[in-house]
Amino acid sequence: MTAPSDKDSAKPSNFLRQIIERDLEQGTYAQRRWAGHPADAATHAAGVADPAKIRTRFPPEPNGYLHVGHAKSICLNFGLARDYGGVCHMRFDDTNPEKEEQEYVDGILDAVKWLGFGWDANGTRHLYQASDYFDFMYRAAEYLIGAGLAYVDEQTPEQMRANRGDFGKPGVDSPFRSRTPGENLARFREMRDGKLADGAAVLRARIDMASPNINLRDPALYRIKHAEHHNTGNRWCIYPMYTFAHPIEDALENITHSICTLEFEDQRPFYDWLLDRLSEGGLINTPHPRQYEFARLNLTYVVTSKRKLKQLVDDKHVDGWDDPRMPTIVGLRRRGYTPESLQLFAERIGVTKADSWIDYSTLEIALRDDLDPKAARGMAVLEPVKLVIDNWDAVMGAGHLEPCTAPVHPHQPERGQRSFSFGKALWIERGDYEEVPPKGYNRLFPGNKVRLKYGYVVECTGADKDAAGNVTTVHATLIPDTKSGTPGSDSVKAKGVITWVGVHDAVPAQVRLYDRLFTVPQPGAGDKDFLEEINPDSLKVAQAYVEPSVAACPPDTRFQFERHGYFVADRKEHVAGRPVINRVTGLKDTWAK
Ligand code: ATP
Ligand code: MG
Repeated sequence: MTAPSDKDSAKPSNFLRQIIERDLEQGTYAQRRWAGHPADAATHAAGVADPAKIRTRFPPEPNGYLHVGHAKSICLNFGLARDYGGVCHMRFDDTNPEKEEQEYVDGILDAVKWLGFGWDANGTRHLYQASDYFDFMYRAAEYLIGAGLAYVDEQTPEQMRANRGDFGKPGVDSPFRSRTPGENLARFREMRDGKLADGAAVLRARIDMASPNINLRDPALYRIKHAEHHNTGNRWCIYPMYTFAHPIEDALENITHSICTLEFEDQRPFYDWLLDRLSEGGLINTPHPRQYEFARLNLTYVVTSKRKLKQLVDDKHVDGWDDPRMPTIVGLRRRGYTPESLQLFAERIGVTKADSWIDYSTLEIALRDDLDPKAARGMAVLEPVKLVIDNWDAVMGAGHLEPCTAPVHPHQPERGQRSFSFGKALWIERGDYEEVPPKGYNRLFPGNKVRLKYGYVVECTGADKDAAGNVTTVHATLIPDTKSGTPGSDSVKAKGVITWVGVHDAVPAQVRLYDRLFTVPQPGAGDKDFLEEINPDSLKVAQAYVEPSVAACPPDTRFQFERHGYFVADRKEHVAGRPVINRVTGLKDTWAK
């Protein structure tokens, strides 16, 4: 199996790649100049030929932790820039004067870096915040007013809504629509200077109240909000609307391909209208950026909305944003996902223009494909019961411990061997013993011979039980000269093979067995409350035993426990010698009977 990074040449094409390749071939953006930082047309014109062949951006709002949907967008935007000699800008879309939390800003930057991407290129740090462009946005607004393309509307919000019309009904012009540019400018400046209350007026584009696209029926550009902003403080009491701000942010940053999710498709005509007008006015660089939409990631059995994820955290349904059951990037990381597995996942699901649901198993398959060649093997017993070899002392000598080895990785002998030892008492899985075996059961039951992997063949003789009938100890006798890897060891036929760890050298471990966080593929679909569809059994904690090599590892080490699947030493709670381990996912193959 090749690592995902070796498959670069096999990357499937998609409509975005085709668009970029066409633009590069036609030299659409070849003449553009770059000031070395985001800027208006004149400043860029005085700069150098843009060293980036294309520019994309990843523009989160810093109001929560990023989730697996954002990972798709990150891999897409940073990946396209990397593949086509471009740059991807990291931009915080902080035009809302809501309190920004530094925790979220740091979390977002960490997540992007951890996924394997960065924003330093051509000697420049392309880390931006949209609020730095407020001055230019204000200037653009005044330009539109002067050109008769925007007006201050003082209808009530209700009137505005009613006069917008709907799909079947054209809108009705506001009585304020015919104000002169001079009147509008004066009134807009009063808005800016704090003379009007929140909601008393908005600045609107003057486009077409009868447009079949409702987004072109004089959309709002600026609103009044007497609120402090984390970056600009109390300098502003008017703030740009997202639909006005976003195209301008892209334009100032020389973005070529502005990639967003499908719900913005209807906004594209306004995106172009605005940037066309600002280009005509000589305010922004040309040719201006273009917006392209792709289908957002919908993943079954999880929710991908920051609002819902925040609710899970705030209401303590999970143990924080980085709970290993969360589809946040920090959650996936703690669960044991690797950056490469998420990149591989993003590559495999591709980009399309049609919304669909991706099955959660697609993510798990990408993880297994990434971890299979990387993860060291190990043995762990998750639901332990003691197995005593009653003839051990007689056959091997009292207290004898027989050294055993197993490969770190079955297909990579160069990674060496792990060591542990076999003795009189072992831990085995409770499910590996049955007093009365069901049909086809090949593991321990009285009279059956079974191989303890990397060790000996034993014959089961029975078990002790407590008063309630629970098995407390399983008994067996050793069949001498059957040690794995020794001559003649397979002369005795064993019906089954089971895993084990030695009571004398295994280390007690807390192993968290995670399952899906929701019981239904589309939580909250229809009129269901997504909180009522939380899986009550999404976490089981096992008091397990692991072999010494596993217990000694540093946090974040990933393993494949034979028979059980992929596991990781928890990055927050594991310490070498006192293992705390998370199950990432089960094995593709179910254990043979
Ligand atoms: P949420 O609804 O979860 O808050 P959002 O879209 O508001 O998500 P932003 O911080 O605004 O979150 O998103 C940053 C970028 O990530 C945007 O460009 C957006 O298109 C992209 N993105 C968000 N969710 C997904 C998703 N599920 N699939 C693909 N891209 C996504
Ligand atoms: Mg948002």
